Amino acid sequence: MSILNSQSFVDDVVSAITSVTGPGPVELHTPSFGENESLYLKECIDTSYVSSIGPFVDRFEKELAEFTGANYAISTVNGTSALHLALVIAGILPGDEVLIPSFTFIATANAVSYCKATPHFVDISSSTLGIDIEKLRSYLKKETKFESGICINRKTGAPIRAIIPMHTFGHSLDMDSLMEVAQTFNLAVIEDAAESIGSYFKQTHTGTFGLMGILSFNGNKTITTGGGGAILTNDEETAKMAKHLSTTAKVAHQWNFIHDQVGYNYRMPNINAALGCAQLESLPSKLISKRQLFEKYTAAFEGLDGAYIFSEPENSKSNYWLQTLVLDDNHFGFQELILKATNQLGIKTRPAWELLTNLKPYEKSPRMSLEVSENLQKKIINLPSNPALGEKK
Ligand SMILES: *Cc1c(COP(=O)(O)O)cnc(C)c1O
Repeated sequence: MSILNSQSFVDDVVSAITSVTGPGPVELHTPSFGENESLYLKECIDTSYVSSIGPFVDRFEKELAEFTGANYAISTVNGTSALHLALVIAGILPGDEVLIPSFTFIATANAVSYCKATPHFVDISSSTLGIDIEKLRSYLKKETKFESGICINRKTGAPIRAIIPMHTFGHSLDMDSLMEVAQTFNLAVIEDAAESIGSYFKQTHTGTFGLMGILSFNGNKTITTGGGGAILTNDEETAKMAKHLSTTAKVAHQWNFIHDQVGYNYRMPNINAALGCAQLESLPSKLISKRQLFEKYTAAFEGLDGAYIFSEPENSKSNYWLQTLVLDDNHFGFQELILKATNQLGIKTRPAWELLTNLKPYEKSPRMSLEVSENLQKKIINLPSNPALGEKK
């Protein structure tokens, strides 16, 4: 493509984006608040329930369970701690391997490392942006064996005990197939649903298929508690253990400090849960606006050759957390130019994460071939995704 043509492609992409966002500055994703956030926070301060116990924590957990359809929700200080705790509860031991995509936020891998286990990286599919399940199936068939019911990596000899599917930018993977492969190879499933509150596979909320799922309420997610996370589970014993371990494994007693194992201080403070309760009230309308924003971007890019707006995979309903532009293979190499042109205008577009296998802590970790991840990483641009942009006429 000539320089002239390439400039006109960048111009076309920029004008398609600004036809939706308006002129800059526009943020990638920011929190937004209604009246009840201030009201509930004031209640915390007025009653002095700002810390690790209080009525908003119980209410937030109850409402989260209701919204997601999970039997239990246990709130935590952030999504990363929820992931760590979930892996501890799933029985991940030092030296184990845990299958995760290399195309994810580093928290997914770090949580595995906190258990002194090793992330084992798998490729993604361009139709879901999550783990390529068929590629995973044939890889495991070839690379693993069973020893006393445990899936063992033939090369390293390490048990592969769990898998963490991640629902990228809010798009669910095919959880029927994922669960089936996990069952075949006896892997515990912990869903990283940090980005996918309000997203469904078929009629079921993401994060409720596996033994556990986790959510994040960081400031850049669809709804926020400042910092926060949650473990979702349908299993009563697991829920009890999550609550116990997240509250320093303290045995209930009116005054004695009895802790029956090494626990964690991972419980969400009441003040954060107060914010969360108010944010949950606005979640349904945010989800509608985010879908409208997706439709606006899709219309703006219709008829523009060389790039498309990623839409929810088959059988799923996405929360459209981050809107995603994907460049065609013959427009490889434009990512940098588009990022530059938009950010110069104050329009905060971003590439997806660097593949974790390219980062220092994980450059030596075991992996399958990652060609789809490598290809997509160079072709994806996240676009400004605030729900308010979807509301505008
Ligand atoms: C946000 C996020 C997390 C958890 O993040 P916290 O900031 O710890 O709440 C984990 N995994 C993914 C994929 C995320 O996007």
